[in-house]
Amino acid sequence: MRAQNHRGHQSHGFLTYDDGKFHIYRNLDLIPKINTSAIQEWFGRLPGQVGIANVRYTTSGKCDEKSLIRGTQPVTASKDGLKVAISFNGNVVNTFPLKKEICEEFPSFSYECDADLICNKLLIELMRSKDLTSAVETCMQEIEGAFSIAGITKNGEFFAFRDPHGIRPLCAGHSEDHSIHAFSSETVGLDINGFVRDFEVKSGEFITISKNGFKREQLANGHRAFCAFEFAYFARPDSCFDDKYVYEVREEFGRNLVKENPDIVKDADIIISLPETGDDAAMGVHEASSLKWERASRRHRYVTERAFILLNRERYATIDKKINILESKVKGKRVIVTEDSIVRGDTTKIVIEKLRKMGAKKVYLFVTFPRIIGPCFYGIDMATYGQLIGSKHNSEQIAEIINADALCYQSIENFVKATGFTRDQLCLACVTGKYPTPLAQKIADEMKKRFMDGYKETGRLYEIEDALQKS
Ligand code: SF4
Repeated sequence: MRAQNHRGHQSHGFLTYDDGKFHIYRNLDLIPKINTSAIQEWFGRLPGQVGIANVRYTTSGKCDEKSLIRGTQPVTASKDGLKVAISFNGNVVNTFPLKKEICEEFPSFSYECDADLICNKLLIELMRSKDLTSAVETCMQEIEGAFSIAGITKNGEFFAFRDPHGIRPLCAGHSEDHSIHAFSSETVGLDINGFVRDFEVKSGEFITISKNGFKREQLANGHRAFCAFEFAYFARPDSCFDDKYVYEVREEFGRNLVKENPDIVKDADIIISLPETGDDAAMGVHEASSLKWERASRRHRYVTERAFILLNRERYATIDKKINILESKVKGKRVIVTEDSIVRGDTTKIVIEKLRKMGAKKVYLFVTFPRIIGPCFYGIDMATYGQLIGSKHNSEQIAEIINADALCYQSIENFVKATGFTRDQLCLACVTGKYPTPLAQKIADEMKKRFMDGYKETGRLYEIEDALQKS
């Protein structure tokens, strides 16, 4: 889980199954360091041969401390002797009809996060069909959104499934001696434990583990729409999707940006990257342009939070503490800065301000992810139009706002080519406005209309009931 702490740092949790019981440990912040002397204590706290775990940053539910604790995963649901626990990555789109259905069955149901919705829905379907495969199949049909899930039943059955569009990653592997089977969002979670990678769970696939290994069943035939943002920002560079390392894709992004902007490359003296998601693209820019890649922006090793997934009020202070610019490397220079994406624009603005202070003569920004114009409903926390600088400004206007001499986004076409996926295998909704699921499209259209009409967005609009009813 520590290998995947970049996917969520606000809270973490572990759940094991032993002799008909679930054992749970949940806490806020990053996965803790566990000293060798404390290992036995941990095994005592979490006994059993089967376990699931989660790191979370909030893309549903509230962000105050109490809600964060209550929304920490894994979550469980139980009734009439049936019990299920899940760890989930993604986001539910049809929140309201699901809440309604669950409240009819469990009147005291209280919603803290989307994992609660999925877990309770799964339990309801289990109560109805008494069969895990049918229950998962119905969940796949009736839950709209992104969900990569690992779970355990009351009998200790270990399972995993992925939504019919395979929006969030999920892969499977085993230990070298075949005694342990595991699921992981990213391949790095397997690699770091010395596991052999077996396969990426397919969109709409349901997997259980038996003594003979993985049992794979295709329960839904959706249209694959893997999140393109994983390539640009979210995933670790040393993870693989479709057998391609993310860092290789990011290097190609850099080469593409050189091809797309020859005049700017001619006018620049050096490249610097915004550590660390801009590093691989900087290497690509360097290879394709022969410009020197100066490691002139340095990151504080122990400020571990990722700026993008922080709350607004924390972001400025964190970026300020996290990134330092080496004056002697940038003074009087025309600098190309490689950046993974621009969401709100504030991170980039702060860095450009620092570069200018250190005497950079010109600052050109190369951004690997195309301009973000719309919200995400699938597990990345950019859920309103108002928070997206690209939803109301074109690249020239954004360059002016963040005080860059030019802002160059990679084209969607070249972005897609570099990933090795075809365009229709990727979700590109936040850069194209075309959502892979129908309700998300309706909500996005309604939100956009309201946004254009000056409606003040007070939060994630897709969580506001009347917006959903209208759509
Ligand atoms: S909308 Fe954007 S961030 Fe969300 S899943 Fe699609 S590509 Fe990823």
